[in-house]
Amino acid sequence: MNKKHGDIHYYLTQILTGHGCFLEYLHRFQLADSPFCPSCSNTVESAEHVGFYCRRFSEERAMLAKAFEHPPSHARFVQDMCSTITKWDAAKTFAATVVTRLNRIDWERKAQKRQQQLLLQQQQRPQQ
Ligand SMILES: [Zn+2]
Repeated sequence: MNKKHGDIHYYLTQILTGHGCFLEYLHRFQLADSPFCPSCSNTVESAEHVGFYCRRFSEERAMLAKAFEHPPSHARFVQDMCSTITKWDAAKTFAATVVTRLNRIDWERKAQKRQQQLLLQQQQRPQQ
């Protein structure tokens, strides 16, 4: 709260609060069939998982590690990003990249589900 730099955007808010396109969150509101990460077995796809552990985002995490000068961790993320404007900007870029990819995956998942529902409705429609 006492930082002298940086502003928060939509993507960073999602990573910091866990309220967003994470399957754990979507599943809680019945907007996803499962809370589990599609790439990591038996692991709930939370903001923490996506930000610090999920193999799908290791490239983005490596870029953040370069800016932070060490691998990012859940325990030190806010402390690290508040320490300099460079680290703040790196955290914002990381959050934007990751959340944008997750939003695209979520959009594709929903489109696929709509298509399956349409096919099912067509199959169930009485023949004339
Ligand atoms: Zn994962």
